[in-house]
Amino acid sequence: MLDSPAPAELSATTQSSRARAVDIGGRQRRQAALALLRCVLTEEFPGHIAVVSSFGVESALILSMVAEIDPATPVIFLETGKHFSETLAYRESLARRLGLRDVRDIAPDAVELAANDPGGDLWQQSTDACCGIRKVIPLSRALSGFDAWITGRKRHHGAERVNLGLVETTEGRFKINPLADWSAEEIATEFRARGLPFHPLALQGYSSVGCAPCTRRTDDGEDVRAGRWAGTEKTECGIHRAPWF
Ligand code: SF4
Repeated sequence: MLDSPAPAELSATTQSSRARAVDIGGRQRRQAALALLRCVLTEEFPGHIAVVSSFGVESALILSMVAEIDPATPVIFLETGKHFSETLAYRESLARRLGLRDVRDIAPDAVELAANDPGGDLWQQSTDACCGIRKVIPLSRALSGFDAWITGRKRHHGAERVNLGLVETTEGRFKINPLADWSAEEIATEFRARGLPFHPLALQGYSSVGCAPCTRRTDDGEDVRAGRWAGTEKTECGIHRAPWF
């Protein structure tokens, strides 16, 4: 019978085992996410699939994986006209760094804006209406002709995302969420492994970044998305609810 390890040895052994377990789990998840992306990009929907990205705090990871497989994949960025300047700068530098060749800035329809939000302050009266004009309707147009789209959503973001599937379908269009089951720790580890640049606002205390009027910094211990539409019941912009997506 082996002697029981001394407490210090046990602690070191346990720590080593845990680190190894995280490493094995991370590698498995990375391979699974890349395999799913390769499958949908090259086998299931070649030429008919796009990524939708906010170029937010964690976006670089899914974009990096997509670029690794096919940098010509269309990337849809909803240019709401309300982004932080830091996000727009990050969108430029990240796309260049990853070699993404088809990033599409999708703006709201000018006629609809003039009719419904001439002063640019609709968000103060109705965030749902503002998101509708600046995000939901433009995305509906942008996705026309695509059979599937890729998102970077994760279950650990909570609220409506806790039951997120890896592959979903609505009204005949497919939505692929390769990072759905990744933890915050795994995201951070893979960010480091790939040497990905951080969103400038992530370094200033923003755990999630959307439009400037509807985003605030988060404090330690708050949910990842607590700074989005803070103080209201709203947790999603609506692009993942609209039935035609
Ligand atoms: S997040 Fe805010 S500013 Fe951006 S589209 Fe929605 S309501 Fe408008």
